Amino acid sequence: MAEDAGGAPIDVAAGRLTPEAYAAGFADLHPGLDPNAARVEAERCLFCYDAPCATACPTSIDIPLFIRQIAKGQPKAAAKTILDANVMGAMCARVCPTETLCEEVCVRVASDGSPVKIGLLQRFATDALFDAGAQPYRRGAPTGRRIAVVGAGPAGLACAHALARSGHEVVVFEAREKAGGLNEYGIAAYKAVGGVAQREVDFILGVGGIELRTGVRLGADVTLDALRRDYDAVFLGLGLGAVNALGLPQEDGAEDAVDYIAALRQSENLAALPVGRRVVVIGGGMTAIDVAVQARRLGAEEVTIVYRRGPDDMGASGYEQDLALTSGVAIRHFARPVAVEPGRATFERTAVVDGRLAGTGETFALAFDQLFKAIGQTLVATDLGEGSLALEGGRIKVDAERRTSLPGVWAGGDCVFGGEDLTVVAVEDGKRAAASIDAALGRRAQAAE
Ligand code: SF4
Repeated sequence: MAEDAGGAPIDVAAGRLTPEAYAAGFADLHPGLDPNAARVEAERCLFCYDAPCATACPTSIDIPLFIRQIAKGQPKAAAKTILDANVMGAMCARVCPTETLCEEVCVRVASDGSPVKIGLLQRFATDALFDAGAQPYRRGAPTGRRIAVVGAGPAGLACAHALARSGHEVVVFEAREKAGGLNEYGIAAYKAVGGVAQREVDFILGVGGIELRTGVRLGADVTLDALRRDYDAVFLGLGLGAVNALGLPQEDGAEDAVDYIAALRQSENLAALPVGRRVVVIGGGMTAIDVAVQARRLGAEEVTIVYRRGPDDMGASGYEQDLALTSGVAIRHFARPVAVEPGRATFERTAVVDGRLAGTGETFALAFDQLFKAIGQTLVATDLGEGSLALEGGRIKVDAERRTSLPGVWAGGDCVFGGEDLTVVAVEDGKRAAASIDAALGRRAQAAE
């Protein structure tokens, strides 16, 4: 067993739990509604005329319409309503922070204290359509135009699906082995049980006219210049390829939370996944919560999240913070790392002074067997080549139609500047870019149905 700086053993081991405990810890976080419960919940909706829930949805799903369709016993029609606006409605039903989007503004909150369960109803409808094996979309009449999509995450797949429906030929280049992006590699396992991410990818590719080429990385296996030369348009949905460093002189033993979550998602045997007895997570976003809760559910005895500011500034929603706390994760606010050495991390307490975060000089140390950094990701700009693709804030600069500074190149999802790093926002980017590409190629967007 490896030793920490003080000579104590570092305890990172697999198989800490019984098979039953793994199964319980990684079961569906929110089991779906049965038809009766869905209808009862749908009947709580007031079918508001200027529905604030629909306005709050980044993809503008007609929420009162799909809920009315569920109430009438037409879940597949409801799914079509959802997917027309958001082709990744099945995963978004599971991973959207609904408590800060559609459900936050539901008028039922004012009348009876709780919103209509829009996310669960959306899941009910999309599951019904997928379970039936229905495919309501087909490729449009071929236009003879070829479009390259880089990245098979939510932005790239949404863009590819819309372009295929308009009749364009689409080739999607994906660096990893599988399509799906963060839905496949970056979301906590208990939010995407039963292979739902892959089922959604299969549904999207089922429209026809989309060729998926995996194991192809921009900048290494193909260049942006070559794609611009060989295709009529290019969409970049690269995501963010690198994890931010802590910025300390020494980060011995700090692991990337993103890599750990990806390994967990692809693991077929959770009992084979090593986890520390004492785990420290540095960060305050969704990735920090996902890795912390999953470490607990893999058998870590003590898990502590350390975040440099207060709870209101955390990127993770209040719901996610509560999930961590009720899972036995401790959250320590207002502290930042100043040294990480094997088995021991030192933090300085922080405070907001004149609106700015400052160190107080007071420090404390946490012993750990495993330490994860989850302080955000960054774009690997070198993948984009030497061209004149303008960046802003370290990400690709785009306009309202998701056009970049390079003619013939669009971009969306986490790799672009502005907006929140959410699946639903990436889907909207892909949709808008597809409409813009379609218009630019001289064909009106008449998606085939
Ligand atoms: Fe229904 Fe609530 Fe949306 Fe009104 S705000 S349409 S009650 S889900």
